[in-house]
Amino acid sequence: MEQKALECPICKSNKAEIAGENVKLSGRFEDKEFLTTDLTVLRCMGCGFYMLFDKMAQFTTKEST
Ligand SMILES: [Zn+2]
Repeated sequence: MEQKALECPICKSNKAEIAGENVKLSGRFEDKEFLTTDLTVLRCMGCGFYMLFDKMAQFTTKEST
């Protein structure tokens, strides 16, 4: 599977931390309720924007250790 470099759509930062795993979101759109599949939630360390990925998504993060 192709790996995509993680990039925040807001500030273009490639640094993010995992804010949650196996998160399901529920909500209501018009007259229908919906429930998402398990998601991984990443939070941009630059601007705080939350990015959601489904389990099939793969991403790379560049971290200096
Ligand atoms: Zn950002």
